[in-house]
Amino acid sequence: MGRYRLLLGLGLLFISSLGMQQASADMLYDQLVPKTRQWLDDYWGQYFAQNGQTYMTAEGVHPYTREGIKTSCAPTALNNAFYCRTSNSIYYDDNFLRKVYSEEGDYAAVSILAHEWGHLVQSQLGLLDNQLLVYRELQADCFSGAFAQHLNQPGKLEVFDFEEVAKLRFSAGKKNIRWTDTSVHGTPTQRITAFEDGARFGPGACYY
Ligand SMILES: [Zn+2]
Repeated sequence: MGRYRLLLGLGLLFISSLGMQQASADMLYDQLVPKTRQWLDDYWGQYFAQNGQTYMTAEGVHPYTREGIKTSCAPTALNNAFYCRTSNSIYYDDNFLRKVYSEEGDYAAVSILAHEWGHLVQSQLGLLDNQLLVYRELQADCFSGAFAQHLNQPGKLEVFDFEEVAKLRFSAGKKNIRWTDTSVHGTPTQRITAFEDGARFGPGACYY
């Protein structure tokens, strides 16, 4: 229990210190996916190169607006986003992403894409197999935290507010939203701790 409280306390401190940074204009929704994709490629391309590994970007990043559309993996579901290894592609409910963007802020929407990209990274690093589902999900949160830290500089994401992330994470599981199902993704506290591990220490801290 002591450790739990310490971690949570550090987490809140961390969030509030970064949350005080100056914010400027939001990026337009239309720019969200292409810009995020470019940042993700820059970041992970560099990380793979540093480790002598070859990085392959996503084959596609596909929006959808209905459930039940066939993909190379599962059929689409509303309020969800997912990475499909078979097609090395990411699929997302465009209305869901738009809603997160307008209600919780641009970074909250970026963090969903960054999490799915975390699964792409896992796939390429051979980390998608032989792991408990919840660890795989927390690792993707950790990778998204590492990426978040990379965005936290001038010329990248103009509005950068960790409170937006916290809001998204802590609301996880409260709504009937597949993407935040706690049985799949872990508890909100576990998720934010994983995210912070990545944000503080980089992807190297994500190999649980
Ligand atoms: Zn996931």
